[in-house]
Amino acid sequence: MGGRAPARQRSIRRHNLALLLTEIERSGPISRAELARRIGLTKATVSSMVEALRGAGLLEEKVPPLSGVARGRPGSPVGFSVQAPVAIGIEIAVDYVSACLVDLDGTVRRSVRHAQDHRRGDPAQHLARAVECARGLLANAPNRLVGLGVAIPGVIGDRGRVRAAPNLPAFVGHELAVELNELVTDLVTSAPGALCIEVGNEANLAALGELWYGGHDDLRDFVLVSGEIGVGAGVVAGGRLFAGAGGAAGELGHVTVDPSGPPCACGSSGCLERYVGQDVLLSRLGLDRREQLADALCSGEPAVGKVLEEAAHALGVATAALLNVVDVPAVVLGGLYAELAPALEAVLRAELERRVVAHVWRPTEVVVTNLGATAAMRGAAGVVLQRFFADPVAFIPALLPAE
Ligand SMILES: [Zn+2]
Repeated sequence: MGGRAPARQRSIRRHNLALLLTEIERSGPISRAELARRIGLTKATVSSMVEALRGAGLLEEKVPPLSGVARGRPGSPVGFSVQAPVAIGIEIAVDYVSACLVDLDGTVRRSVRHAQDHRRGDPAQHLARAVECARGLLANAPNRLVGLGVAIPGVIGDRGRVRAAPNLPAFVGHELAVELNELVTDLVTSAPGALCIEVGNEANLAALGELWYGGHDDLRDFVLVSGEIGVGAGVVAGGRLFAGAGGAAGELGHVTVDPSGPPCACGSSGCLERYVGQDVLLSRLGLDRREQLADALCSGEPAVGKVLEEAAHALGVATAALLNVVDVPAVVLGGLYAELAPALEAVLRAELERRVVAHVWRPTEVVVTNLGATAAMRGAAGVVLQRFFADPVAFIPALLPAE
């Protein structure tokens, strides 16, 4: 192509570029012919777009899976190039900050994690430090940055505004997307204004991380229950996140387990978090640090078993209430609960069996995350990638021929 292209033609090509890249993201390296078949375009159209994308450094020829097909032949697959754009996911947790650099297919290229108590100090400085982590990951990576996704344990509104954050009260009212935008002006390279900044709730993004990268085939309906200092849940139904009308869906940590229970930072009392949050569990187990949990678990001490049994009971009661409302067939245990799963699972399963109505015809599946502590930052990066795939031209205008 080239030269002048009518507006309608440009708009069709813009849409087709999104279709094509989304299909490669979904399928991995794929031949032009198969690509054309799957997205319903002619081979000529697909070949022309593939050439433009190769020219822009997004795609490259891959080694064919079968020997005998030479590179560059029609049957040879194309996939994302090593020079293709990248995204960054950041998690600002209560007591640590972590970040990862991911390729277009969501593969983690590098990651970093530092202990950092975000309950103390100035949120603006914490954000700046998180951005420094991102900068460190980008060092020596010439790739164009599509954007940053940030996960934080709070209810997030428009412009990344923190509406509520019982464990990080100093962040409330901050418009994180706006503040981040100011911190990363130097990262906006050749396409000014096209850096995407997404801020979301930690458990919601962890649920999306689980959906996209968790390796659980066919898991399209589930609740991710994640334990950290706070307790969060992300509800995925039909392969989509259910965030509620204001982003506060899945606040499992503030579901009441006992109305006459201890006061909670959210203003209520007897919240689940007051029974199974990390600090509460550590204090009940007489431990100072989370790293000591593994030894405590192995000790086989009856006192440890009793504390964890009570925790599993409370977790089961609250999770069963959530499942009875949203009717999804699976629970994914994340964060602290993934580490504690061997000690929690039996009691948790028994509570779900007893309390979830649907259990009668469809036993609730309980699975443990494969993503360790990375689910939230990977989900955050994934949301940025979704924005890119929805309209690549918004990020790389040169993909369209000149007007
Ligand atoms: Zn609460």
